[in-house]
Amino acid sequence: MNCETVWASVQTELIAKLDADTYNRYLVGVVPLSLDMESDAFTLGVLNDFVALWLDSNYKTIIAEVLSAVLGTSITVLFESGHTRAAADISSAVAPTIETQPQPDRRKPRSADEDAIFTYRPDFSFDTFVIGNNNRICHAAAIAVSKDPGKAYNPLFVYGGVGLGKTHLLQAIANDVIRRSKCARIRYLTSEEFVNLYVEAMQKKSLPAFRRRLRSLDVLIIDDVQFFEGKVGSSEEFFHTFNTMHNTHKQIVVASDRNPQDMSGLEQRLVSRFEWGLSAEILPPDLETRVAILKKKQEKQSIKFSDDILFLIAKRIRSNIRNLESALTKLIMNISAFGSTMTIDRAEELLVDKFESESSKLLSIEAIQRRVAEYYDIRVADMTSKKRPQNIAMPRMVAMYLSRNLTNFSFPAIGDAFNRNHATILHAVGKIEKKMQVDETFRHAVGQLSRQLRT
Ligand code: ADP
Ligand code: MG
Repeated sequence: MNCETVWASVQTELIAKLDADTYNRYLVGVVPLSLDMESDAFTLGVLNDFVALWLDSNYKTIIAEVLSAVLGTSITVLFESGHTRAAADISSAVAPTIETQPQPDRRKPRSADEDAIFTYRPDFSFDTFVIGNNNRICHAAAIAVSKDPGKAYNPLFVYGGVGLGKTHLLQAIANDVIRRSKCARIRYLTSEEFVNLYVEAMQKKSLPAFRRRLRSLDVLIIDDVQFFEGKVGSSEEFFHTFNTMHNTHKQIVVASDRNPQDMSGLEQRLVSRFEWGLSAEILPPDLETRVAILKKKQEKQSIKFSDDILFLIAKRIRSNIRNLESALTKLIMNISAFGSTMTIDRAEELLVDKFESESSKLLSIEAIQRRVAEYYDIRVADMTSKKRPQNIAMPRMVAMYLSRNLTNFSFPAIGDAFNRNHATILHAVGKIEKKMQVDETFRHAVGQLSRQLRT
């Protein structure tokens, strides 16, 4: 059967299942490439790696379901990047999928002054950023934005806990935009700096100039927007800046310690603007990513540690990458001062404070069970009971999943805490991961619980 025909019949079904906005945003530019009935694989072409990754983690299951129903056999969906649909086919779309040829920028190059006002961290670049499962989507979105500011995702809203790489990623966008074009007007500000500049402009009666400066930018990056909470004047000013820039297709990138919906101290209209583009979360990194980050950090250093020592640090410090780095720095300083070689025992001894303060932050499984029970309005005792009605079984699996993700406990240890064996926990974690991939409301609820538990 022709894959174009199959895709055409699947499309109607997909539009009905997803909302039109989601469809227009992510699926309208998809090109059916091939249907291999021997391996039961359907390959779809998409614009770039970011879209491929996004569809793979969010919509693969539902597409496969619909395809399987249409074809009457179980189908695997594959994505291949580097394909665009002809613009005529998607004239009604509002997708980030239309590739445009970059026009040469004929404006005058930035002056030294303009570069100087930018709080610049040249070391926070894409090159020095380690990609892991915790930040893959954010990273891909940041790359897409810096390649084509104002076109891909606007605004790009990056959120996640302290020390997980938000500022690094924002600065990497800035560095990359600057590298690509001598003429690009870009500014990185923390929201605190924005507030100070706004207050100063008010006092000096120079608001019009302040506005002109910001609104003439191609890219405005605001870090730590949670600081706007409760600051009515500045956030109103930012709201208007946002609207003007967005209307003229200028790129806005924002970072926050929580997702837009949870910013209760901000006006709803600003929160809803943040939701216009793409919100992507950076999660705490897993062990492999933590080790990879340590390796990356020591590339620039003349002193190198063995894998044993890097694993020791990465195993014990998991909540914050900044703390991971400062542990490494402490060992480096010790070696520079005393010149000896580093052993595991010596490292343990030197880092004992850091390890202790880390473990005091670690959650207990009991705290997770309590919080999840409260959230779903069931009894804490139901977490360990053998009862299996759906209204209890699902929250219990959520608690198992969170225990696996937010603590250091092994599967058997988590099993004990739930009065189950380790296979049950393994199964529950897999089940919750699957459900999170296809059910956005559910993913949001689990994300919210996870954030609350981490703070
Ligand atoms: P946040 O803004 O989220 O609080 P930062 O961006 O300041 O965190 O990151 C804290 C430190 O961790 C920085 O030194 C940064 O370079 C480092 N870091 C965070 N994520 C990564 C990563 N994926 N790869 C390399 N370094 C990282
Ligand atoms: Mg930061």
